[in-house]
Amino acid sequence: MIHIQNYINGKFSDPIQNEWLDNSCPADGVVYGKLPNSCAKDVQNAYEAAHNAFPSWSVTSIAKRSAILLKIAALIQANLERFAAAESKDNGKPISLSRSIDIPRAASNFRFFGKAITQFYSESHEARNQKTINYTLRHPLGVVGCISPWNLPLYLLTWKIAPALAAGNCVVAKPSEVTPYTAFLLGEICNEAGLPKGVLNIVHGLGATTGQAIVEHPHIKAISFTGGTETGKLIAKTAAPLFKKLSLELGGKNPNIIFADCDYDKMLTTTIRSSFSNQGQICLCGSRIFVEASIYKQFKKDFVERVRQLVVGPPNEESTQIGALVSKTHFEKVMSYIEEVDNLQSRIIFGGKRVPVEGYENGYYLSPTIIEVDSNQCKLNQDEIFGPVVTLMPFDSDDAVLAMANDVNYGLSATVWTNNLKRSLLFSEQLEAGIVWINTWMQRDLRTPFGGVKSSGVGREGGFEVLRFFTETKNICINYE
Ligand code: NAD
Repeated sequence: MIHIQNYINGKFSDPIQNEWLDNSCPADGVVYGKLPNSCAKDVQNAYEAAHNAFPSWSVTSIAKRSAILLKIAALIQANLERFAAAESKDNGKPISLSRSIDIPRAASNFRFFGKAITQFYSESHEARNQKTINYTLRHPLGVVGCISPWNLPLYLLTWKIAPALAAGNCVVAKPSEVTPYTAFLLGEICNEAGLPKGVLNIVHGLGATTGQAIVEHPHIKAISFTGGTETGKLIAKTAAPLFKKLSLELGGKNPNIIFADCDYDKMLTTTIRSSFSNQGQICLCGSRIFVEASIYKQFKKDFVERVRQLVVGPPNEESTQIGALVSKTHFEKVMSYIEEVDNLQSRIIFGGKRVPVEGYENGYYLSPTIIEVDSNQCKLNQDEIFGPVVTLMPFDSDDAVLAMANDVNYGLSATVWTNNLKRSLLFSEQLEAGIVWINTWMQRDLRTPFGGVKSSGVGREGGFEVLRFFTETKNICINYE
């Protein structure tokens, strides 16, 4: 059994009330570890450690902060296999994915922000007619809270922690209680890299207890949250009267719009990835596929053929392309949508069934699922299912598909496949989304702003945007007349 502990003030500790949660393995449903269900007192201890570390960390030279973050990146990379195995076991994702995407990206989050902070700048505004010069200071906020979900556990936790630390803040972080393992391993790496004690503190536990205690802590200055839209609403409600800075990265129901004039083979290969990577449990997955009517039949046939070839299997096998869904609760939630298909003017054209995997009979394996729907208003096209489930619909005109793409509460990302420049520019302008991909999907450049509109969130992460989020701006005006 793995005994996960909190990481507070550079040390590993059990929760004060000695309350524990089970950590189970999605591949076989077996409980293989315990993690703390931390209470408000644990969060308070983490806060105090961070608060005590802040005066020194906030004035530590940028060169030194950067060097420590780069060291953390190097150590994650050096421990790639250990981290990748832990991530797959905890989350159910194929080992090939955690080895090639999740863990390298966690390392590059530290590497990127370790370097970005050396280039971060503030502005000055001179008005010679008034004999004034204004200049802007960007100071770290103090102690900040970072709360992350289970789908990309270390990848998203470090996407928040790294810029917060780079900007000179101290952090109280809470990973998802569903996938705590790699966050636990991160503590060791931080000590080895020489991160001063208390600068980063990781408390484990349920959202409603540990998470809530972070959000309602009166002296935690900002909350960077990634997770579901309903949780985001709760957090916003709690944080608003405390006037905390908030960054909310929430759910998505992203359109994947395919025109007949696209590069068909590239589109097909990428659409397999954008539909089913990580068992469809990526907020950016293109779960609503709209295909121009003239190629709809051909696409449907080719797509089903390619999806049929995807290998569903245990996460630790190299050949596995689709692993297990993250938990029993989540598996049941995804299945509940599939069970309703017949009542929703829609048809399953592939999948929709639990997959028996030999030796892993109690794991949460679902075949990639394609559903044809008649209306974008259908709940299958309006709710975030967050599993290996996509819907297909034909469209007749640019206007019709644009209207359907935007007719949803979410607005995280959108993909458009076309070789028509005018069309790609018009769609880029008019799609209601924080991120638009033209002829690609999930090609990430960490310098770019990342976030959603409508119910997909508030604020932007990435690049200098997030360094601005994690700093307080002060303007100084000097009159030199
Ligand atoms: P979730 O909202 O259930 O949990 C996310 C985190 O919030 C967890 O650590 C949880 O413990 C914590 N939490 C829950 N209730 C809380 C509360 N009241 N106060 C404080 N913290 C609380 O989300 P999830 O199921 O872990 O993740 C899936 C969701 O995350 C999906 O909706 C997905 O779209 C979204 N997501 C969004 C992005 C993005 O960048 N926009 C990225 C990944 C995932």
